[in-house]
Amino acid sequence: MSGEFVYDAGEPWLNLLATRARSWTSAPRERLVDEAALGRWLEGGGVRPARMSREDLAAARELREAMRAVACTQLGISSAPDAPRRPAALEVVNNWAVRRHPGRARWAHGSLIRTQVRSVSQILARLADDCLTCLTDHAHPALDACADTECRMLFLDTTGRRRYCGDNCAVRNRVRRHRAKSVSEVLMPARQDGSEQGARRGGRVSR
Ligand SMILES: [Zn+2]
Repeated sequence: MSGEFVYDAGEPWLNLLATRARSWTSAPRERLVDEAALGRWLEGGGVRPARMSREDLAAARELREAMRAVACTQLGISSAPDAPRRPAALEVVNNWAVRRHPGRARWAHGSLIRTQVRSVSQILARLADDCLTCLTDHAHPALDACADTECRMLFLDTTGRRRYCGDNCAVRNRVRRHRAKSVSEVLMPARQDGSEQGARRGGRVSR
């Protein structure tokens, strides 16, 4: 299902955070609605898990919100209203990160190849470890949040110029600024001209 998820946050663990949008509002948008959705998200990221369970979905959501809380704390961003508390969140991420499997190798037709990570648990462990590496390592200074206060999606900004997570937030905020500017022009008619037009506009709003 093309366009269902975004994969441009910079790292897979950040892409997982993006599966829940508008976390800073009273109506967050959950995109991992069921096990099948988790499967589609993983496949979109190039991983085809062997099987999927209800427990996998719950674990993915729990790790996602724990990573979001830890990252926001590290970046000095206020947590989402329903975010897990700081010690508990870090414990969840740590518990997953230590389970990271380095991956075995095997011979196939005379060549050595790495065994594919196939279980959801292995994938979550890798994401948790990547999250901690990012937050404590070189990439941290490039980590930023979308300037939309209801979105706050985290992403890596290697250019130093990325303000919004994507076009939707950029356009929504451009429209919002334009409307605010229009309203302020109506509420505060042009000071310089003191013209009849300004007075007319002011009169219309006060009604
Ligand atoms: Zn955004």
